[in-house]
Amino acid sequence: MDDIPTITPEMVEETKIEIAKRRAGRRGSPLKDIADATCPVCGSHTVSFVDDLVFEVVLAGERIVIPNLTGLRCSNCGDFAFDTGSSKIIDRYTKNKPAGGYECSISTVGAGRLGMYIPKDVLRVMGLTKKGKAIVTPLSRRKMIVELCSE
Ligand SMILES: [Zn+2]
Repeated sequence: MDDIPTITPEMVEETKIEIAKRRAGRRGSPLKDIADATCPVCGSHTVSFVDDLVFEVVLAGERIVIPNLTGLRCSNCGDFAFDTGSSKIIDRYTKNKPAGGYECSISTVGAGRLGMYIPKDVLRVMGLTKKGKAIVTPLSRRKMIVELCSE
């Protein structure tokens, strides 16, 4: 009977703390207290924490939709950003999947900025002009969304 390990009250307490920590990591976003912050896109004070963001992408013919993601959204212009927790979830579902997109080269355009060369096929399909503007939303260290602004 001596071989059976005894669970001490301390061990139970440690386990409870560990579970609480994990729960907090899953549910608590570092951005969750943000409300009425200034929007970097439209300038109004309407950026708040939300938990109903949806990530949608088509990779290698497979449509991936991830609902109920946390992050920030502007209720005025609709611009949004995923928080780190959501970015990790997106990464988990999308990494190692070929993008099936167009390859662009990236190079320096001066003043510490980089330019991305968009292939002609993409220009034609999307009706891009050289005066266009786009909003870039980083999702993770390897992925971003490029959203074209309507004129
Ligand atoms: Zn806005």
